[in-house]
Amino acid sequence: MQIYDLIIIGAGPAGITASVYAARKKLDFLVISLDIGGQAAWSGDIENYTGYQFITGPELAQKFQEHMRKYDIVLKENEEVLELKKSGDVFLLKTNKADYQSRSVIIASGKKSKELGVTGEKEFKNRGLTYCATCDGPLFSAKNVAVIGGGNSALDAALQLEKIAKQVYIINNTSALGGDAIMRHKVEEAGNVAVFNGSQVISVVGDKFVSGIKIKDNTGVRDLTVQGVFVEIGLVPNSVFVGEVEKNSKGEIKINLRNETNIPGVFAAGDVTDVPEKQIIIAAGEGSKAALSAFRYLAINKF
Ligand SMILES: Cc1cc2nc3c(=O)[nH]c(=O)nc-3n(C[C@H](O)[C@H](O)[C@H](O)COP(=O)(O)OP(=O)(O)OC[C@H]3O[C@@H](n4cnc5c(N)ncnc54)[C@H](O)[C@@H]3O)c2cc1C
Repeated sequence: MQIYDLIIIGAGPAGITASVYAARKKLDFLVISLDIGGQAAWSGDIENYTGYQFITGPELAQKFQEHMRKYDIVLKENEEVLELKKSGDVFLLKTNKADYQSRSVIIASGKKSKELGVTGEKEFKNRGLTYCATCDGPLFSAKNVAVIGGGNSALDAALQLEKIAKQVYIINNTSALGGDAIMRHKVEEAGNVAVFNGSQVISVVGDKFVSGIKIKDNTGVRDLTVQGVFVEIGLVPNSVFVGEVEKNSKGEIKINLRNETNIPGVFAAGDVTDVPEKQIIIAAGEGSKAALSAFRYLAINKF
C-alpha cells in the first residue's frame, strides 16, 4: 500500500488551506473529506473574511475550491474517516471506502450540528427538519418555519430565512437572544421574525412531512404551525474517530502553537481544535500553520 507524506482530513477552510500549502511544498499527500467547504458553505452572508467585504458562504466555498483545483491535489470526496491509529512509523486511516497509510496527518474535520433530542427529530429529518438553512432554506419559500436556537448560527439562519419564508419563529430557550449585536439588530428589523424567548421545543409533529412543533414556556404548552424546522443549537467537534489524540472536555483536540497534538506526526487545525475562536479566517490561518508544521516534521523525521 502506498505510504503518503501527509493525509489531510476535512476540506473546510482549514483543510483546504492546509492542502494549498502542502501542494506548494510539493508533499505527496491526499485530502479525504465528506464535502468541500465545510461549515463555510453553510454560512449566509460573510462580511469578515479579509479581501471580501461581502461574499456568501457558498460563493466563498467555491472560491476555496477553485484555489485548490489550481494545484494537482488529490481529493477523496464523499469519504468519511472512521478510524485513525498509529502502527510503527506510519498512521493507518480507515474510511468508509478504503484504507490509507501516511507518515503524518492533519485533522481538520471541524464541527457538526448538535441534535435537539426531542420526539419527531429523527422521524422528520430531511422531511421538513434540517440543520442547514443555506442548503435547505430555498425549499421553504412562502412557508412558515421555526429556527431553534438563540446564538449566531440561529440568527444567521433566521436572517437567511426571513427573505424566503412567510413567517420565521425563533425558539430560544434562554431569556434573551445571544450572538452578535449586529445580527440581533438585523433580526429585530426584520418584519416577519417573531422571537419566543424562554421557550423549549418538546416535539416535532407531522404526517409525512413536518406540520408543526410543540413548544413549552413558563405559561404552558403551545402549538405552532410550521412546515420547516431549522435546528441551530450549536456544534460539536468531529473528533470521535481520532483515537488516542488528546481532547478537552468539549471533545476538541488539544494543540500547541505549532498545531501539534500529543502524538508526534498528528497535527490539527480549525474548529475541531481547542483554538479559542471559531471563524473562517482563523481556521484558514490554522490550516496553513498545520501544513508548515507537518512539512517541518517530515523534513526532520526522514523515515
Ligand atoms: C451558520 C454558520 C455561519 C457562519 N458564519 C461565519 C461568518 O460569517 N464568518 C466566519 O468567519 N465564520 C463563520 N462561521 C464559522 C466558520 O464557518 C467555521 O469557523 C469554519 O468553517 C471552520 O472551518 P474548519 O475547516 O475548521 O471546519 P469545517 O468548516 O467544519 O470543515 C470540516 C470539514 O471536515 C469534513 N469532515 C468532518 N468529519 C470528517 C470525517 N470523519 N472524515 C472526512 N471528512 C470529515 C467536513 O465534511 C468538512 O469538509 C459560521 C458557521 C456557521 C455554522
